[in-house]
This record gives sequence, C-alpha cells and structure tokens, in this order.
Amino acid sequence: VVHFKNVNKFYGELPAVENLDLAIEPGQFVTLLGPSGCGKSTTLRMLGGFEDLTTGEIYLDGKPISHLPPHKRNVNIVFQDYALFPHLTVGRNIAFGLELKGMESGAIHKRVTELLSLVALEDYAERMPAQLSGGQRQRVALMRALAPDPNVLLLDEPLSALDAKLRQQMQIELKSIQQKTGKTFIFVTHDQEEALTMSDVIVVMNKGRIEQIGKPSELYARPHSRFVADFIGQSN
Ligand code: ATP
Ligand code: MG
Repeated sequence: VVHFKNVNKFYGELPAVENLDLAIEPGQFVTLLGPSGCGKSTTLRMLGGFEDLTTGEIYLDGKPISHLPPHKRNVNIVFQDYALFPHLTVGRNIAFGLELKGMESGAIHKRVTELLSLVALEDYAERMPAQLSGGQRQRVALMRALAPDPNVLLLDEPLSALDAKLRQQMQIELKSIQQKTGKTFIFVTHDQEEALTMSDVIVVMNKGRIEQIGKPSELYARPHSRFVADFIGQSN
C-alpha cells in the first residue's frame, strides 16, 4: 500500500531521513524501530502529510501523494499525546471526522457504537474525556483515528506515556485491533521488546537510514550489522 521512493528530508543542512526506500504490504503491522533522533517521526509525518519531503516521492496504492494535504491521503495518525477534544463527549470525538466527511447522523451513530464496542467502551459515549482513565482515552483516540476508515493508520509512540502494566495491555489490544480491522498499521517505537512482540515487520532505522528490514524472528536470528544486533539484543 505504501511506497517510499528515494525519500530525503533535510532540515537545513542536516539530514533527518536519507535515501529512504521502503515498500509496505497491506494489512501488516509494521514498526519503525530505532534510537532517538533516527528519523522515525519524520518518516511518519511525511507520510501523514505534516512534513514536506526535500526530494523523492511517496506512493499510496500506486499514486503519488506528496502534493496532497493530510485529509486527502486516506491515512490517519495517532500522536503520542493523543489529544482528544476536551469539550466534546467521547462519542462526538469519534464522530468528528465523520461529520466533516458529511456522513448522515444515523450512519455516524452506528459507526461510533461499532468502534466503541471494539474496545469495550460502548457505555462511555456520553462521557467527557476528563472522566476517562489514560488507557480509556488512548482507546478513544485510536477509534477516532480509525473512524474515517483510513487505509493506513500511523501511530507515533502511542503507548510511551502509559505505565508498564497498561502499556502491556494496550500492546495486546492494539495488535488485536489491527488484526480485526485488517488495516495497515505503521507503528513507531524505540522499545525493541515492544517491536518484537507486536510486529509483522520491523524496520530498524539508524541516523536517518534503514539498517535492516525483516520479521522479528529474522532480525533476532540474523542481524545484518552490529548496530542491529546491539539494538535488538539490549534489554530494558
Ligand atoms: P524520537 O525517538 O526521539 O522521537 P525520532 O526517530 O522520531 O526520535 P525525528 O523526530 O524524526 O526522530 O528527528 C530526526 C532528526 O531530525 C533529528 O536529528 C532531529 O533533531 C531532526 N529534526 C526533527 N524535526 C526537526 C525540525 N522541525 N527542525 C529541525 N530538525 C528537526
Ligand atoms: Mg519521534
């Protein structure tokens, strides 16, 4: 579904992403893994339309998308702070993108209920975000991003603000939502354990470049470089 073709991103003289060539198959859980500053967020933001490319092109379903604004890309993004609209109920938060698309209210209601039940929050539609736990807010943010039915969901360290136990639980839920919906998820983390447990494919990045792409088992068994071996092998 997604194809980065020779993408470069410079901030002034400094490269953030260099010669990025990456093809992502549909329906997969793909993780961009690497240390702080290696270009993970920049890669995601370019795909989401929040950052211009310096050179190269990104294709979605075979069509170039670099010139399109975020809302025309059929891609949606969940940021780390997953800011919900504080003055809107849970239900209205999820409905927001659907209202923008002009969906009629009966269909919106059905879709919101369906999404909330996917994360066992069907009784929470009338609550305000402030009345939710961190994990519940996280689930609502995910459903809000899935509501307009994007082809690809981008997740930039969505779990890093959660405590260890909730984080583990959300890892399982996130993976299960990906499998149930069959969507392509592109997930960013600097935590190799998280990447190894959740991903179909891991893209290991280092200093703006791809070090290795593979299944978790391949990266673990056959790291192509010292960097990959050290990064995958370290424990937190
Ligand atoms: P982290 O794990 O810390 O979130 P990351 O892998 O997401 O790191 P990026 O945010 O993509 O890293 O940043 C890649 C490089 O680009 C870094 O060297 C960063 O300092 C630089 N960079 C990112 N955004 C900007 C910006 N707006 N202006 C200048 N440099 C930037
Ligand atoms: Mg980042």
